[in-house]
Amino acid sequence: MQKIFVAVIGCGPAGLMAAETLARAGFNVHCFDAMPSVGRKFLMAGKSGLNLSHAETLENFLQRYGDARPRLEAAIRAFPPDDLRAWAAGLGIATFVGSSGRIFPEGMKAAPLLRAWRARLRELGVRFHMRHRWQGWQGEQLLFDTPEGKCSFNAAAVLLALGGASWSKLGSDGAWAQTLAEEAILLAPFRPANCGFDVDWSDHFRARCAGFPVKTVSAACAGFPPRRGDFVITEHGIEGSLIYALSAPLRDAIERDGVAKLTLDLLPDVAQEGLNAELSRPRGRDSFANHLRRRAGLTGVKTQLLHECLPPEVLRDAAQLATHIKHLELPIQRPRPLDEALSTAGGVSFSALNESLMLQQIPGVFCAGEMLDWEAPTGGYLLTACLATGRAAGMGVVGWLCQVPGSAGVPAGGFKIFRAEPNPPAGTPALPETANLADP
Ligand SMILES: Cc1cc2nc3c(=O)[nH]c(=O)nc-3n(C[C@H](O)[C@H](O)[C@H](O)COP(=O)(O)OP(=O)(O)OC[C@H]3O[C@@H](n4cnc5c(N)ncnc54)[C@H](O)[C@@H]3O)c2cc1C
Repeated sequence: MQKIFVAVIGCGPAGLMAAETLARAGFNVHCFDAMPSVGRKFLMAGKSGLNLSHAETLENFLQRYGDARPRLEAAIRAFPPDDLRAWAAGLGIATFVGSSGRIFPEGMKAAPLLRAWRARLRELGVRFHMRHRWQGWQGEQLLFDTPEGKCSFNAAAVLLALGGASWSKLGSDGAWAQTLAEEAILLAPFRPANCGFDVDWSDHFRARCAGFPVKTVSAACAGFPPRRGDFVITEHGIEGSLIYALSAPLRDAIERDGVAKLTLDLLPDVAQEGLNAELSRPRGRDSFANHLRRRAGLTGVKTQLLHECLPPEVLRDAAQLATHIKHLELPIQRPRPLDEALSTAGGVSFSALNESLMLQQIPGVFCAGEMLDWEAPTGGYLLTACLATGRAAGMGVVGWLCQVPGSAGVPAGGFKIFRAEPNPPAGTPALPETANLADP
C-alpha cells in the first residue's frame, strides 16, 4: 500500500523540521523548493556564526517573543532549547553555550549540520524537488513552476514553510503572500525586523567613519530599556547586533512619529559627574581630540560622532559635553529596505490558523516558520521558533490525517479538498524525485 503523500513546500529549517516529523510518523514526504538547493538562508545565517538558540531560563526565553508569545509558547515548550541541542547532537553536531548565553554548533557553521540533516531525511525516505516554485492551487492540485514547465501534484496535506520576505536572493521573497491573499487568508503586512537604519550622515562623517565599529556603548529608544553592545557605522546609517536588538521599537516609533531617536551612552562605565570634572580640567595646548582622549578615554568614531551630532558651542562646554556623551541623541530616519533585514515581521496571521497551525479556511494546509506573523530579536530566537513551529505544524498534519479515517477529508465548510491516495491503482509508479541535491 502506498503511504499517504504529504507535501512540504519550502526547505528552510522550518520545512525540514516538518519533513522530519512527518517522515518519522510514517508519511510519504515530498519537499519542494523554488531554489536549486535546501536551506540557503540557514547556510547564510551560519556565515557569521550560527546562533541556534539561547541558554537563559525558558521563562526569559519565551518573553523574547513579545505579543506573539501566547501563539508560539506551546510549540517552543514542546521543543525547547535543550531539546534543540539534543536534536543537533543526534545529528552528530555538538553545541556549546557562548559567554553571552547564546547556543552555537561547534565550528559555528550551518553546513555540517545541514549536510547531516539532509542525510537523515533521505534515510527517512523524504524526497526533494528543487527548482519547484509553488504557484498556488489549480482546482485540488498544487501547482508548481519548474525549469521544464508547469506541473501539479495531489497531496493529502500540505505544509507551507515559505519563509519571510527578506534576502530574496536566497529564496525567501514573500511572493507567496499574494497567493494566500487570493485565497482570502488573513495576512499582516511584512515589516523589517532585525534591520539597520538610515541616518542622514554628513558627507564628511560618512567618508571618515563608514565601516567602523562603535564598541561598548549603551543604547535606548522610545521607552525601551538601555542595552549594551556594539554597532557599526555604514554608508547609509547604522547596523549591527545592538541596533537589531532595538530595531522593533525604533521601527515602530518611526511608523508612529515619522522619526525616532536613539539615545547613546558612549561611556556606560563612567559616571557623568566624574566625566564632567575630568572634562572641566584646563585643556592647555591639547587639541580637542587629545583632551577627550586623555580626560575621557574617548577616541576614533566616538569622538567623530560627537562632532557629527553636536554644535561647536556644546563641544566647548565641559558640562554640556559630559551630558551629551552620556545621552547622545541620534535621529534615525527610516529602516533599511525590507530585503536587507535579517528577518521580517508580518505574514500569516495567527487568527487565520487553528491551534495545530492549520489554515482555518483551507483544511489540510498548515503553516510554519518565519512566514507566520511573529518577530523576535536575533540571539537564536528566530531559528528556535522556526524549528519548533515546523515540528508543531508537522505534528498538526499527523493529527489531522490520523483523525480522518482512510484519507484526508474535508470538514464542513472547507472549500479546498486534498485527496489522500492510500490505495493507488496497481502499477502506479512512485513519484520520482525531480532533482538531486548538491551538498551544502
Ligand atoms: C544573514 C542572516 C543571518 C541570520 N542569523 C541567524 C542566527 O544566527 N540565528 C537565528 O536564529 N536566525 C538567524 N537568521 C534568521 C533565520 O535564518 C531565519 O529566520 C530562518 O532561516 C527562517 O526559516 P524558515 O524555514 O521559516 O524560512 P527560510 O529559511 O527563509 O526558508 C524558506 C524556503 O521557502 C522557499 N520558498 C519561498 N517561496 C517559495 C515558493 N513560492 N515555492 C517554493 N519554495 C519557496 C525558499 O526558497 C526557502 O528555501 C539569519 C538570517 C540572515 C539573513
